[in-house]
Amino acid sequence: MKVMYDVIIIGGGPAGLNAAMLLGRSRRKVLVFDSGEPRNRWAKTMNGFLSSDGVNPQEFIQKGREELKKYGVEMLFKKVDSATYSKGQFVVDDEEGTVYHSRKLLLATGLKDNLPQLDGLEPLYGKSIHHCPYCDGWESRDKAIAVYGQERRGIGQALAMKTWSDSVTLFTDGTNSLNRADRELLQRNGVDICTTAIDRLEGEEGMLQHIVLKNGERREQQAMFFSLGTKQQSDLGEQLGCEFTSKGVIKTRRLQQSNIPGLYVAGDAARDMQLVIVAAAEGAKAGVSINMELQKEDRK
Ligand SMILES: Cc1cc2nc3c(=O)[nH]c(=O)nc-3n(C[C@H](O)[C@H](O)[C@H](O)COP(=O)(O)OP(=O)(O)OC[C@H]3O[C@@H](n4cnc5c(N)ncnc54)[C@H](O)[C@@H]3O)c2cc1C
Repeated sequence: MKVMYDVIIIGGGPAGLNAAMLLGRSRRKVLVFDSGEPRNRWAKTMNGFLSSDGVNPQEFIQKGREELKKYGVEMLFKKVDSATYSKGQFVVDDEEGTVYHSRKLLLATGLKDNLPQLDGLEPLYGKSIHHCPYCDGWESRDKAIAVYGQERRGIGQALAMKTWSDSVTLFTDGTNSLNRADRELLQRNGVDICTTAIDRLEGEEGMLQHIVLKNGERREQQAMFFSLGTKQQSDLGEQLGCEFTSKGVIKTRRLQQSNIPGLYVAGDAARDMQLVIVAAAEGAKAGVSINMELQKEDRK
C-alpha cells in the first residue's frame, strides 16, 4: 500500500533535523533520509552555537536524533538518488530503488568544500586547517596563521585574519598575480607574502607545524585558512529544477520556499550564511512554513 508522508526531508544535518523537530511537534508524518556525510565531519568541535559551543558535531547530531524519537519522526540512513514532482506530490527514490511519496519536500543536503590540493592536508583538515574564521578563528588566535590562495584569491581572507592574529602570511603557492596595489595593501596591513610553490604540509596529531616549500625552505606555521568555494553535496536541486545563485546555492524566499511549489530548501544548500546555528534556524523556518502550507490545504 502506498504511504503518503506529509513531508520528506532529505538531509539529516542541523537544518534537516531542526525542520523535523518543528514538523514532528506539529504532528506531521515525517521521514528524514540521511547519508551520514555532514559537511563538518572532519572537525572535532562545533563552535559558535550558543549553549552547544565546542561540542563534538557527531554528538550534537546524535542528540538531535534522540530528541526526535518522541515526536515519531522516521529516519532512514540511506542516500536518496532521485526526486521528482508530479501531479501534486513528490516521488523520492532511495539508493536501493525503493520509492516514497510526500506532499512536501525539504532539501537539507548541504554543501562540500573545494580543498587545496596539498600533500599532507588531509590529517590536518578540520583541526588546524580551516575555511571559516567564525568557526575556528578564536581557536587560532595569536598563532602563526597561513592563508592559502593562488593568484589573487587569498587577499580578502589574509586581511580578515588580522582580526585574530598579528602573524598572517599569504601563500600564493607558485603564482605571481598580486599587483603593486595588492602588495602595498597587504604590507600596509602587516600581512607577509610568500609566492614560492608549496611542496607539502607537515604536522602532528592534526596540528600544522610547517609549510615546506619547493625550494626546501620550511616555514613555521600553526594554522591555515583557505576559501576556495563550495559545491552542492547532492544534485537533487538540479534534478527538481531549482534556481541557483551564481555561487551555486539554491535561491530561496524568506521562509525557505524554492521556485518549485511545495519544495523547500534549508541550511548550507540554500543561500545565506553557512553556520550550524543558521542551518538549524532555517530548518525551523522551513518546518513552520511547511506546516502552515499543509494547514491551508487541509482547511475545509
Ligand atoms: C571542517 C568544517 C568545520 C566547521 N565548523 C563549524 C563550526 O565550528 N561552527 C559552525 O557553525 N559551522 C561550522 N561548519 C559549517 C557547518 O558544517 C555547516 O554550516 C552545517 O553543517 C550546515 O548544516 P546542513 O544541515 O545544511 O548540512 P550538513 O550538516 O552538511 O548536512 C547535510 C546532510 O545531508 C546528507 N545528504 C546529502 N545528500 C543526501 C542525499 N542525496 N540523500 C540523503 N542524505 C543526503 C549528508 O549526508 C549530510 O548528513 C564547519 C564546516 C566544515 C567543513
